Amino acid sequence: MPDFIDSPVLSPVSVPPALAAIEGVVPFEAKYHAYLSDESRLTGWADSLSFPTSTAHVAEIVKACCQAQIPLICQGSRTGITGAGVPMGGHVMVLEQLNLIRVLAYVEETETQQATLLLTVAPGLSLAALNAELESGFAHLIENDVVGDAAALRAVNETKWFWPPDPSEAQASIGGIVSNNAGGICGHRYGRAGQHVAGLEWVDADGQVWSIHRGEYVFHDHTCQTPMGDMLSFDPRALGLSANADLVDVLVGGEGMLGVITGITLALQPAPVCRWAIVAFFHQDTDAAAFADSLKTDILDARYSHPLVALEYLDSSMLAAMTLQRVHMTTLQSLPLFPAGSQAALYLELHHHDVDAVENWCETLLMRLMEAGIEEDAMWAAMDESEYARLRQLRLLAPEVSNALRLQRAMSSSSGDPAVSMSLKIATDLKIEGSFSETLQRYKSHLYHPSNGTERVAYTLFGHALDNHLHLNLLPDNSEAQQLAVKAILHELVQQAADVKLNAEKKSTALACLPQSLSVEHGIGKLKAAAILPHLPAAYHDAYRQLKAAFDPHGVFNPHNRLQAYDCFVVNPPLTHAGSHSDAERHATCLYE
Ligand SMILES: Cc1cc2nc3c(=O)[nH]c(=O)nc-3n(C[C@H](O)[C@H](O)[C@H](O)COP(=O)(O)OP(=O)(O)OC[C@H]3O[C@@H](n4cnc5c(N)ncnc54)[C@H](O)[C@@H]3O)c2cc1C
Repeated sequence: MPDFIDSPVLSPVSVPPALAAIEGVVPFEAKYHAYLSDESRLTGWADSLSFPTSTAHVAEIVKACCQAQIPLICQGSRTGITGAGVPMGGHVMVLEQLNLIRVLAYVEETETQQATLLLTVAPGLSLAALNAELESGFAHLIENDVVGDAAALRAVNETKWFWPPDPSEAQASIGGIVSNNAGGICGHRYGRAGQHVAGLEWVDADGQVWSIHRGEYVFHDHTCQTPMGDMLSFDPRALGLSANADLVDVLVGGEGMLGVITGITLALQPAPVCRWAIVAFFHQDTDAAAFADSLKTDILDARYSHPLVALEYLDSSMLAAMTLQRVHMTTLQSLPLFPAGSQAALYLELHHHDVDAVENWCETLLMRLMEAGIEEDAMWAAMDESEYARLRQLRLLAPEVSNALRLQRAMSSSSGDPAVSMSLKIATDLKIEGSFSETLQRYKSHLYHPSNGTERVAYTLFGHALDNHLHLNLLPDNSEAQQLAVKAILHELVQQAADVKLNAEKKSTALACLPQSLSVEHGIGKLKAAAILPHLPAAYHDAYRQLKAAFDPHGVFNPHNRLQAYDCFVVNPPLTHAGSHSDAERHATCLYE
């Protein structure tokens, strides 16, 4: 969660007349400053705020905002890293009080699908709270006698269930995770959040509540009727979806631009019986990449049966940052010291319903690591649940350690005033086609000056080797030169990911896949818009324009997301209340109004 930054002097505002009579809507005051930013550290402004306590309450506020044309920005836990939940004026609706787990239903196994337990939750529920409930075997639901029917109760008693998406920020809300279509460490195996959503409830611009389930609204021949009666007419492949996409998949990833989600039906799976992990340290990052490539070849054909669910890469900068932060982070202290001379690490996670399968594969992997020259003391293995949870922290802490380092660097290069030193967090979320070794090489070619081999900007690099999907965290100091270098690196990498994708496949297929390559799991929000939007095909923008017209005809839901004009770097500084783009400029550059 964003730290509480010393509040600037905010000019007193009063609640707009249209919202004044609604219970719980308050004027924005300095004490709410944390609600002006997310983990990207982009900071905006707002006129009013609410913490609705029911769907009816949400509907009342949404309706009033729409009638008065007041921008409405909904927030989950503000852990997003693209500024998507940061307001640029208008009303902030914080959904953290809508956090109930509501009802369960059991769906029997069919020929094509394994048994599923459906669980409906409110959007403000955190991933941590959901996982605690699942770990406890639904203790809270059973205690309150709201488990659902007898079949659901039997399923709860007989099986342990889990919801596969696992973004490493457990405080993120389910509403935010679904609105970003977030992924996580095991995304290669389990996919992204949307794949595990069976239905959605949302409040539309008129304050009406809608609810759909998978299978009810599906694209056929490039058309799909919405529950409101509008006809969408585009090829969903333009959005990176399948030709027969479900409307649920279209709404997932909406970044708060298509309505306020008030209920999510999650499709749970039986939890794997066995979860083990291995960490291997390498003296050369090229050796780590080559080992990752050799494993990728093996498991390519067996994606859904192979126990290896995650293969995560941490480079030398990440390991060095962790060593530096060890003194401050007790969780890091629970891990052994890294072997001397380590330049890269691979974190391997294995899941299966058959313990023998995990055991056999664990042995095979350790053997292969030894054959690759990794010595015994450079391999850690976790072969029970508690050891697994401890070892997993190595990968889970990577973003947090990067954040801590970024803050330290910014503080040391500024006056020491935290408000001054809040440089933006820029983390890439790109998938670059090719082997992992090639991908790594491409990243490095953008990170160092070709003339003298020095770093252009300090960074940490980690991510999903099985998908060539890395998170590069750029850690500039506050100098203008460094901020410009960050911007240049981001644009170069996006350009490269787009070029490689277009060259790798036939143009038509590649165009369809571009949205999924340039912004895999973090969304586009405000910070990525200028870098990514120009690369997306016209068909993508046309599809989004239609969605906005159908789901947000008044243009009030998070209207400042995905605007190419918002290039929030030093050359075009973050918008402030006084220095915001003029309305005329905003309308000229807004793609979706
Ligand atoms: C340390 C750290 C690790 C992370 N690790 C991962 C990772 O491994 N994988 C990954 O994919 N992401 C990761 N993320 C980013 C991740 O996308 C966010 O953490 C999460 O998805 C955002 O959830 P939130 O509740 O904080 O949403 P917010 O930041 O509050 O909002 C995000 C967007 O969702 C919209 N939104 C929120 N709730 C609703 C709603 N009810 N209806 C409509 N729109 C809504 C907002 O308007 C905004 O556009 C990480 C972030 C951090 C800080």
